[in-house]
Amino acid sequence: VVEIKDLRKSFGDLKVLQGVDLDLFNEEILVVLGKSGSGKSVLIKIMVGLLTQDSGSMKVFGQEIAQLKKKPLNAMRLRIGFSFQSSALYDSMTVRENMEFPLVRNEKNLSRKEIDRRIEELLDSVGLPQTINQLPSELSGGQKKRIGVARTLILNPEIMLYDEPTAGLDPITCGDINNLILDVREQYKTSSIVITHDLTCAKQTGDRMAVLLDGQFKSVGTFDEVFPNADDARVKSFYDYNF
Ligand code: ATP
Ligand code: MG
Repeated sequence: VVEIKDLRKSFGDLKVLQGVDLDLFNEEILVVLGKSGSGKSVLIKIMVGLLTQDSGSMKVFGQEIAQLKKKPLNAMRLRIGFSFQSSALYDSMTVRENMEFPLVRNEKNLSRKEIDRRIEELLDSVGLPQTINQLPSELSGGQKKRIGVARTLILNPEIMLYDEPTAGLDPITCGDINNLILDVREQYKTSSIVITHDLTCAKQTGDRMAVLLDGQFKSVGTFDEVFPNADDARVKSFYDYNF
């Protein structure tokens, strides 16, 4: 569903992406690892058309993102759900209002009943139906993440992007979020990219790992292929640091 070929992006003298090749397959969960500043967010921003590459190709559902005009780009963005690092809920709105917001903005002819049914279904899938009338300030960090995921799912995205879904959570809550990522794939048949520094999350959720080093994906494969016996000392240090 995503094909990236020889993608390059610099900011002035700073070379960030230096020939990235990567595919995301249908219904796959791909984990992207790489140290802070390696260009993970830049890659995602190019994917949703917030930045444009200097050269190379980024195709999503067969379409070259950099060539899309405003309208088709917006239509494309609706097919990609982005779950932010901070859950990015509106603090003054209840959970119900937070979930309703993208729906009424993008699908103007839904009935009240359909909207409510959809919100309830998604709150059930993330296991938080009881929070519907609460404000974000009344939720825990892990609950906010789950609601953030539910809100992202409300427009039926085909691709889910998770940016550090388990950052700052205790190990048990991390496990819940990992299960949620797997459940979402199962229930909604999404293809997913998970950006994380958390190798437990990577191992539990990812079909494949991709490690971004010096602007390229050098190690790509299953967890066991990439990590325990990594040749590259920097890939190995990721593993040693976590286990
Ligand atoms: P983290 O794990 O900390 O989120 P990251 O891998 O997501 O890191 P990026 O946000 O992709 O890192 O940034 C990669 C590099 O590109 C950084 O050095 C950053 O300063 C630079 N950069 C990103 N966006 C811009 C921009 N719009 N203008 C100039 N430099 C940028
Ligand atoms: Mg980032």
